[in-house]
Amino acid sequence: MSIVTLREVCFEASRLRYAVGAFNVTSPVQMKAAIEIAVTKKAPLIIQTSVSPTKFYGPEFWGASFRALADKASVPIVLHLDHCTDVEFCKRCVDAGYTNVMIDASKHAYDENVRQTREVGLYAHSKGCSVEGELGTISGIEDQIKVTEDDSALCDPETALSFVESTGVDVLAPAIGTAHGFYASKNPKLHFDLLERIEKLINGKGIRAPMVIHGGTGLPEESVRRLVALGGAKLNVSTELKHVLIDSSFEYLDMHRGDYEPGKLDSSVHQKTMLAIGAWMDLLGCSGRV
Ligand SMILES: [Zn+2]
Repeated sequence: MSIVTLREVCFEASRLRYAVGAFNVTSPVQMKAAIEIAVTKKAPLIIQTSVSPTKFYGPEFWGASFRALADKASVPIVLHLDHCTDVEFCKRCVDAGYTNVMIDASKHAYDENVRQTREVGLYAHSKGCSVEGELGTISGIEDQIKVTEDDSALCDPETALSFVESTGVDVLAPAIGTAHGFYASKNPKLHFDLLERIEKLINGKGIRAPMVIHGGTGLPEESVRRLVALGGAKLNVSTELKHVLIDSSFEYLDMHRGDYEPGKLDSSVHQKTMLAIGAWMDLLGCSGRV
């Protein structure tokens, strides 16, 4: 079946030590491009929407578009809600056909994070949907969430283990130094040792909650390979795809002044988006896995 939960693709990736790319989209053109390149590459795929574009069209629109485009694809595909701080909106997305939701209660104290994540988890699991939670706080700007470097906090391994046990999350996003947006440095300081400790503690004696790496845009290729080798089973790419969409639109419009053919503009964005996502799939080692 082509439409699957995040749990299914991430457990398989965690077991075989590759990562599945999770790509943020804001338009159906990007969704179509992501699915087509996944089929070409024979790669599992995670399509995700941030809260603003999800609200702009409504989760029911995204759920229906996803089903229409993904239903007959020959690869497993997930529709995921990214960084949602609102428990009730998570539930609405579950009802609308999302196959995974991320409740991001990481700004709250531990107990409240557990309570909210557990509530979303119980609801989602009762409807056949899986859940991602976050522990520690990832810095940078993601949609409506802004976290300065001073306010960011790394994930503690022992706390991560009790978080997974108390909440029942299917996948965990531990804060290990990656960030949203572009990195200020070409070689950002990542805490590989921390990822290794968390991964061993949680998944060392059997996979319980595969690791999610946020902030993929701009990471050096070597760092990406290392994160995957250490257990990163889902890697998020958002900022890069926003730039591909805007830059390829400007490029097309600059070259075709007076040419009022919106379909050709869409084709240009579609083509460039496929190229960008395809390169990530090769880097993450998920091409050819289906
Ligand atoms: Zn993120």
